[in-house]
Amino acid sequence: MSFFIGTRHTNFRPRLGTAIRRIVPGSLSNVRASVLALLYPQRCLGCKALIEPEESFCTVCRKFILPIESPLCVCCGIPFATATGPDHLCGRCQARPPGFRQARSWALYQSGDTPHPLSQAIQNFKYHRNLSVGKTLAGLGVVHFPLEDQAYDLIVPVPLHPDRLRWRGFNQSLILARAIGCARQLKVDPFLLERIRPTVPQTQLSASERRTNVRGAFAVVAPERLKEKRVLLVDDVYTSGATVEECAKVLYRAGAEVVDVFTLARAVTH
Ligand SMILES: [Zn+2]
Ligand SMILES: [Zn+2]
Repeated sequence: MSFFIGTRHTNFRPRLGTAIRRIVPGSLSNVRASVLALLYPQRCLGCKALIEPEESFCTVCRKFILPIESPLCVCCGIPFATATGPDHLCGRCQARPPGFRQARSWALYQSGDTPHPLSQAIQNFKYHRNLSVGKTLAGLGVVHFPLEDQAYDLIVPVPLHPDRLRWRGFNQSLILARAIGCARQLKVDPFLLERIRPTVPQTQLSASERRTNVRGAFAVVAPERLKEKRVLLVDDVYTSGATVEECAKVLYRAGAEVVDVFTLARAVTH
């Protein structure tokens, strides 16, 4: 923080900072953090209650955020209702194998009449265009990343159509992809896959309508950048899986060796 304005104290300012830092290490950054906390108090991403600066959700909302744990489907990652037993292939993946190798998410996402903290936060990020919420969510995606033991060459975010990108101003999947790429030192390629036609919002559609809606909506721009690459496809929410399945299909067709999927949240409808 700068205590002086103007050129008169230009030479003095660094010396003062150095002197204070020598006396009380970290004191200036502590002061800065305290002032920022007073000016911009941290609020729960779900209910907006005041919380400690290092937290993301309040204690009440945290109880409703359910991280996905075993037993789950080895392919699509849907958790099973039983609390014990080994991971195995779910009925849906047995009947109709998805286009990707495996999909994993951090936590369950519940849409509906009762506001769920994680869905509140994601909607605030996407539809109210709250980037700071998005960055916090991306940080949670990094901390709770469930595919730690897998090796990837490339991260590809699910692209938005240019019209939607213009309206929102950012691609929420790219923000999440960049956070994971930065933490794992992996290249993120936001221009490899593109949405070549607009699609209607999936929220009101059935699973089969969603598949029809996204069919032929994606294309790989530069297949040579994808050849024999192990790809992590990133999106914000996995609902029916129609979008990521279509993307994975296109990526495989263009030469990818492996396509796995990570989404921050997983809708409970399946
Ligand atoms: Zn809360
Ligand atoms: Zn499955």
